[in-house]
Amino acid sequence: MSVLAVLEQQDGAWHRQAWETLAAAQQVAGEWGVPAAAAVLGHGLSALAGEAATRQAETIWRVDHALLADYTPDAFTAALRQLLDRVQPRLVLFPHTYQVRDFAPKLAAACGRALVSDVVALRAEANGLVAVRQLFQGKLYADVRFTAPPPAFVSLQAGAYRAEAVASGAAAVEVFTPELDPAAIRTRPEPRFRETARAVDLSTAEIIVSVGRGIKEAGNLPVVEDLAKALGAELAASRPICDNGWLPMERQVGSSGQTVAPKLYVAVGISGAIQHLVGMKGSKCILAINKDPDAPIFEAAHYGIEGDLFQVVPALAAEIRKLKGA
Ligand SMILES: Cc1cc2nc3c(=O)[nH]c(=O)nc-3n(C[C@H](O)[C@H](O)[C@H](O)COP(=O)(O)OP(=O)(O)OC[C@H]3O[C@@H](n4cnc5c(N)ncnc54)[C@H](O)[C@@H]3O)c2cc1C
Repeated sequence: MSVLAVLEQQDGAWHRQAWETLAAAQQVAGEWGVPAAAAVLGHGLSALAGEAATRQAETIWRVDHALLADYTPDAFTAALRQLLDRVQPRLVLFPHTYQVRDFAPKLAAACGRALVSDVVALRAEANGLVAVRQLFQGKLYADVRFTAPPPAFVSLQAGAYRAEAVASGAAAVEVFTPELDPAAIRTRPEPRFRETARAVDLSTAEIIVSVGRGIKEAGNLPVVEDLAKALGAELAASRPICDNGWLPMERQVGSSGQTVAPKLYVAVGISGAIQHLVGMKGSKCILAINKDPDAPIFEAAHYGIEGDLFQVVPALAAEIRKLKGA
């Protein structure tokens, strides 16, 4: 009985969380001493499946059908149900993406099982699995155990596992063609929704400079924008900045904004309220700049600069430009 990672792709390109999902599957499979496997759903995805086959797994299932070319919850659920009948995994892992939120509860219910969603850690135990979830905006952690027979369904929070941790290897690719009835697909996909032409997906950014109320007024934003430019970073913000309309809502990080896990997160004038921390604490390296030495952000930060952002940030941007020779 394997651990099956369902790898997400969009228009033939991997979703960033694809490798995070496989890294989690490899880890749990290793602890249980069972094989890891992966599945990718779509139509004509041989290049992607080939790429996945260079990672350590027993089998990459290329679930292929013309009716999977565009995502619909009915087709994805039906296809995965058939694959699960064939593969009989012990555990099925998903990334906690919008698409997975849409179809995974339906799939789990169709299989008569529960889905434990937005999980931040998994612990394999001899007689089962513990999935760790955050409660009350990250104030509590709950250990969830599965009592039903397999398969167990889990979706993983962005950044809970590191994509770089995926082990390389040589997997076999198997094509699985589900039987799909066009009449059973009740939705017709439209072009993907994008909020504005400038819509940003912070969850894929490698470097983020995030600004909080310490910036004082909208007119001071160029100070942090300049640092973001020097670093080649995306600009993000805490909620008050977006509530004030100083930056668009799509740039808000936190429990009611985006969850991000960049390589570097620079928090400028952000206190570190729990609602902000839950959205960024999966970042690989956190640098906090704050004039208050007791600001909670310093507890989450790997590096801290205690000081006035209006002095620190321009100096940092100038140093970075010097180092880059720009
Ligand atoms: C249901 C709910 C959902 C929420 N969702 C979110 C969310 O998704 N994201 C989010 O961010 N918040 C969210 N919040 C709000 C959250 O509780 C905090 O109020 C918010 O994160 C605080 O933003 P801040 O750190 O920018 O501001 P403050 O808490 O006001 O912090 C400003 C910081 O700037 C520092 N500072 C001031 N001047 C300077 C200076 N010159 N130089 C350096 N440092 C300076 C101060 O020391 C302080 O630490 C939510 C709240 C609720 C109730």
